[in-house]
Amino acid sequence: MSRLIVISNRVAVPKARGAAGAQGGLAGALNSALKKNGGIWFGWSGGECEEYTGDINIRRSADGVTTATMDLAKQDVDEYYNGYANSTLWPLFHYRIDLTEYDREFGKGYERTNERFAESVQPLIEPDDMVWVHDYHLIPLGERLRARGIRNKIGFFLHIPWPPTRLFVSLPFHERLVRTMLHYDIVGFQNNEWLESFLHYCRKELGAEVDEDTGRVTLEGRSCIARAYPIGIDYDHFMEKGDTGEARNAQQRMVSSTRRRTAMIGVDRLDYSKGLPERIDGIGRFFDRFPERVRDLVYIQIAPPSREDIGSYQHIRATLEQKTGQINGARSEVDLVPIRYVNKGHSQEELFGFYRAAKIGLVTPLRDGMNLVAKEYVAAQDPEDPGVLILSRFAGAAEQMQDALLINPHSRDDIAHAINKALDMPLEERKARYESLIKTVRDDNVIDWTENFIGDLEAVVCDD
Ligand code: UDP
Repeated sequence: MSRLIVISNRVAVPKARGAAGAQGGLAGALNSALKKNGGIWFGWSGGECEEYTGDINIRRSADGVTTATMDLAKQDVDEYYNGYANSTLWPLFHYRIDLTEYDREFGKGYERTNERFAESVQPLIEPDDMVWVHDYHLIPLGERLRARGIRNKIGFFLHIPWPPTRLFVSLPFHERLVRTMLHYDIVGFQNNEWLESFLHYCRKELGAEVDEDTGRVTLEGRSCIARAYPIGIDYDHFMEKGDTGEARNAQQRMVSSTRRRTAMIGVDRLDYSKGLPERIDGIGRFFDRFPERVRDLVYIQIAPPSREDIGSYQHIRATLEQKTGQINGARSEVDLVPIRYVNKGHSQEELFGFYRAAKIGLVTPLRDGMNLVAKEYVAAQDPEDPGVLILSRFAGAAEQMQDALLINPHSRDDIAHAINKALDMPLEERKARYESLIKTVRDDNVIDWTENFIGDLEAVVCDD
């Protein structure tokens, strides 16, 4: 069995929570793959220094996983991380060209930092290792490693959407960026929609030969395989979290504080891709259309802060607070506040309890690579009395979760009607939908995802 070298922007500690909690299940799955195969997880330490030194800090965790991290210079963090990754690629890949910043310095910083990753990780790679690069921060890394003579199998997985060609071409040097991806052996996407957009771009803009059946993209004698690998949650591990005192307490707190009203929950990093202001508008529309139901519903929005150094994130927070305040101002009574907005992170145990106590899960991103909250909400339900998942059709998860109440998150009426329908949904229908949804949540979990990707990478036959 080959060793595995995992490379991502940050090295995730399994217990990470809150803003970094996005990596909870993924961190666990990658850690078990690293334990099984042996190997190293390499990434940025999160630390900043004045001058980049290239020093690497290698550690071995108690359960046998080796991590290697490096500090980045402040300028790298500004231009590569806050700049190109999170102010250019993130908005563009979530279809928000209105928020996308195109700055030459960001692009240069991105290329320079990817080169630093390549330089630092190279000495750690042995000839038979498989290399697995993660996410939009490191798209050109495979090509940088090839330029340094690395001939190992290298796979790449993109955790966020891939935008339609017509949007993607607004990125200066888009062709250069995509050409670097052909240096990977496998390029993975969250679902078929993003995969198809990528293949469309390769055909139309690069003039590459694309085999639709195998996903093989060939250009100028170089080829990679592009495929969809929908990520899941660590189902067994998550269910164990539900069986803790912390989860039961959280559930109890929620039940006793909502009393005879139906609790509806949303859990999202404070990010403009999550459709939070639009969601609050949809809830407002629900109260306008069905005023007699104001006392039936309490909405709990858990929204830990995220990327607070970036202006668009400060803006989304202000907008959300204003909209929530307006509705609460107009609809509250002395004994009733319709929207509870919690601007901090919670552990997965607590989330399990909150999900279970909430009879409606409201997940309405305008665009999302996958959305694991949708899957966790379903996993946490009581099979005998399950709640209803309302899900944006623009979340990557919608492809697998067709039995959720699918809505258009831009439409207030869609959101309002779905809430009304969920409140009235008979037990039989709730159970039927739950049974279909839990199957994909349980069976297409992150452990299988890791094994599928690694298995495909292992099976690749190298050109040379
Ligand atoms: N999360 C958490 N604590 C919180 C809020 C979120 O641990 O207070 C976790 C949540 O359980 C889920 C992840 O963060 O596992 C969010 O993943 P998702 O795919 O929904 O969105 P992302 O943040 O990756 O865009």
